[in-house]
Amino acid sequence: MIQDVVLRVRVSTPARRTESPVCHQCQIPLDLHQPVPDRPGEILGTCPVCGGWHFLRLDDNGHARLVAHLPLGDLDSPG
Ligand SMILES: [Zn+2]
Repeated sequence: MIQDVVLRVRVSTPARRTESPVCHQCQIPLDLHQPVPDRPGEILGTCPVCGGWHFLRLDDNGHARLVAHLPLGDLDSPG
């Protein structure tokens, strides 16, 4: 079965370009992963402490311009 689920996503925009993207919960630098090599401007960041997943959109220089924490735990009990 496929159903629509509404999630509240927390988004940040790193203030400084030199800033490493951090976990929204732990403020720990994220481990970065590139799941789709053909889309270098979109990567995944996982937190080594809490395991949280973040979607990151990068600018042309590889700096994060948007970090969105994905509330995957909320998928366990969709409203
Ligand atoms: Zn974390």
